Amino acid sequence: MQLRFFGAAGEVTGSCTLVEAAKARLLVDFGMHQGFKTAERRNRSVPPFRASQLDAVILTHAHLDHSGRLPMLIGAGFTGPIFATPATIELTQILLEDAAHLQQMATERANRKRSQRSGHSQRVSRPLYTVSDVQALMPRFRPVEYDQPWQPAPGVTARFVDAGHILGSASVELVLEDFGQRRTVVFSGDIGPRGAPLLADPATFDHADVVVLESTYGDRDHRPLPDSIDELAGILRQARTPAGKVLIPAFAVGRTQQLIYILGDLVRHHHLEAPQVYIDSPMATEATDLYRRFGNLFDDETWQIIRAGGTPLRFPGLRTTRTPDESRSLNSLGGGAIIISGSGMMNGGRILHHLRHGLGRPETHVVIVGFQAEGTLGRRLVEGATQVDVLGRVIDVQAQIHTLNGFSAHAGQSELVAWLSTMAGSRPRVILNHGENRQRQALSENIRQSLGLDTETPGYADIARV
Ligand SMILES: [Zn+2]
Repeated sequence: MQLRFFGAAGEVTGSCTLVEAAKARLLVDFGMHQGFKTAERRNRSVPPFRASQLDAVILTHAHLDHSGRLPMLIGAGFTGPIFATPATIELTQILLEDAAHLQQMATERANRKRSQRSGHSQRVSRPLYTVSDVQALMPRFRPVEYDQPWQPAPGVTARFVDAGHILGSASVELVLEDFGQRRTVVFSGDIGPRGAPLLADPATFDHADVVVLESTYGDRDHRPLPDSIDELAGILRQARTPAGKVLIPAFAVGRTQQLIYILGDLVRHHHLEAPQVYIDSPMATEATDLYRRFGNLFDDETWQIIRAGGTPLRFPGLRTTRTPDESRSLNSLGGGAIIISGSGMMNGGRILHHLRHGLGRPETHVVIVGFQAEGTLGRRLVEGATQVDVLGRVIDVQAQIHTLNGFSAHAGQSELVAWLSTMAGSRPRVILNHGENRQRQALSENIRQSLGLDTETPGYADIARV
């Protein structure tokens, strides 16, 4: 039996592990590589395995770095099922259709430019996949609930548990049987932090022979969320001036719903009076509707609110905008209005026109609640840039930029070690993926010291025989 790492090996994107046993060949996740130079080439290269020989795919959660290459499997000859939780299936459709749409627009733009430059189109660029490829993929999905074992392939029993990362996210346990041998392999998937709003804390396992553990924040712990919420409440009060406005760039899935919950909580506890909050992102609105429908996945605290007659994802003053005109009309707002919009790293989307309008004004507060990758407008603002280019206009930054570090959809270092510790008694082999090398090294060190377990840090296409 063996595992082969075709992504998220020494990096945080492109999650994909091929699992091979005597009678079964499975893929765990097939995500998109993002953000580095060879990402595009890796995404385009034919999958480095025979897609037609795969029995099934298991998808841990909807994020594109785990699901983003799935539509390419169909063209490559894959005919099997894709197993995921019901919420993951619906969220994946939203995210993949949006990704396909953005790729189609980007390639059309590139081709237009190319033909203008040369008078005729030379090499025409193509999207990785289109919206209709995504629609062709969707019937392959098979819903599986948490804690219900199933057989994805001969000789394999699988079980999802809640990973507490985004709606529907799962860790997965595979019990592989191979000529009388039996191995339990646990994939953490992306693990959420403990005590985050809305979602349940990540579930744990008590035994494994092999654990493939994510290490996104393997080198640090996050600031406590309550501190960031207090800071946010302070900023919102400060912004309550006639021309005051708060811009919060946020990812459409996960972070936006967390913010709605937190703002609703501030309203319920009278820390925020009569707010005007706008969700200015059709995708975030769609994802929020989905979160509301899957209330069965909320944590106990959220259910206490619901049982007491409250609505954790709704509050008076929360509005959504649909059309670009409605979005533009928000420019005239003041009085501390709060606009939550994408993209989360300010490298596209409606947030850009809000920033173009607001960054030059001292009454504007930009609240950064998510990771900002190098090369993005978000990163430049975090680093204190005084002048930035937004949609072709150079702007002197007068707005107040606040960076709050307590919001995260990922467990920090101590939480990762605590999650692993429940299996430490079975002395599993620990393989670290989904993290850069610095993060993996730091986590390795901590695991060795706290649990006395050695770890492995495979590179791209490396094999682990289990
Ligand atoms: Zn994720």
